[in-house]
Amino acid sequence: MTSHIEGLSRRRAIIVGAGQSGLAVAASLISHGLQPQIDFAVIDASREEERTWDRRWHSLRLHTTARESALPGLSFSGDPNRHPFADEMGHYLTNFARTFAIKPIWDTPAIHVRKPGEGTTLELITSRGEVQTRNVVAASGAYARPRRPDWAYDLVVPGATLHSHDYLYPRQVPPGRVLVVGGGDAAVEIASELGLSHDVVISTRNRRIDRALRAHHTRSIALNNGDPAATGAITTRPPVINATGDTVTFSDRTQLTVGSVVFATGYLPGDAWLPDTVVPHHGRAVDTSIPGLFVAGIPGYGDPHAPRIGTVARLAQRVARRILERP
Ligand SMILES: Cc1cc2nc3c(=O)[nH]c(=O)nc-3n(C[C@H](O)[C@H](O)[C@H](O)COP(=O)(O)OP(=O)(O)OC[C@H]3O[C@@H](n4cnc5c(N)ncnc54)[C@H](O)[C@@H]3O)c2cc1C
Repeated sequence: MTSHIEGLSRRRAIIVGAGQSGLAVAASLISHGLQPQIDFAVIDASREEERTWDRRWHSLRLHTTARESALPGLSFSGDPNRHPFADEMGHYLTNFARTFAIKPIWDTPAIHVRKPGEGTTLELITSRGEVQTRNVVAASGAYARPRRPDWAYDLVVPGATLHSHDYLYPRQVPPGRVLVVGGGDAAVEIASELGLSHDVVISTRNRRIDRALRAHHTRSIALNNGDPAATGAITTRPPVINATGDTVTFSDRTQLTVGSVVFATGYLPGDAWLPDTVVPHHGRAVDTSIPGLFVAGIPGYGDPHAPRIGTVARLAQRVARRILERP
């Protein structure tokens, strides 16, 4: 396919992913004198209007403050101590890219990367064609693909079946009983929100789920400047062990018929396009076993805190230095 992608060959680096990790690497390269679009390019699988933070549930507020959530070179506008909503983070990243004149190429998933021969060139295969480049940065996200339990595929409900990856607001879920599966922040936040309008049952192995729900309620009050946040009735149940039709069986052998289900059961990283053989190199946080292939923001390849905004900038500087050191 002839496309602008072919014109990208011979760039010094291609960054895969235009989230905060990819943009932070781009900004670090710029701080070392490289020019966006000319010396390096950023590609992203998403369409421009459907980027990661735009796809997260609308009531989501960052756990980090605006000050902690900013990348070097651009502050959030407004109160630095507030906890921004997900869409504010999306706007912030759009402004960040604009400020640094970074123009990601959207709707262009990376499919594979390989190193042919002994030279320094890497071949990046994308949905729009192949690119030759000396460096590829995998910044395709730690929380990219929804993970579901095995029994999820046996559950057939009359209402909605969603993952927290797709959940945006309560109206997506028809009235009635909804089972929320999971015990982390996403489960607590989504169950609390749905509890205001639905009959919510949360199934989890988290024995401290009641405490987590109370803590979330207290946090909501604080975020609402002291206004009491309404809270819905939520029933907690043990983990589901299997499902048939619209009925689940819990580990205590009790059963429940549900109308809808939301899986808040975690994510897999966006690394399916990397070769299976890629491993971190010498325990370093950004290098891999393929020279010229670097990873930013995916914890399985080194730093366990890699996706956190505070860590991203430090790792991005390291990636940029490694790219500049290479022939
Ligand atoms: C619900 C939730 C709330 C969070 N809240 C916070 C918080 O409050 N504070 C904090 O510090 N961290 C938080 N995090 C963690 C982290 O900051 C976010 O996950 C953040 O989005 C990670 O940024 P990223 O750039 O590494 O990945 P992403 O934002 O996921 O960006 C990756 C990009 O890569 C693209 N991509 C994926 N695969 C391909 C491919 N094959 N080819 C091309 N492009 C591809 C995607 O389209 C995406 O645009 C949160 C995470 C989640 C899931």
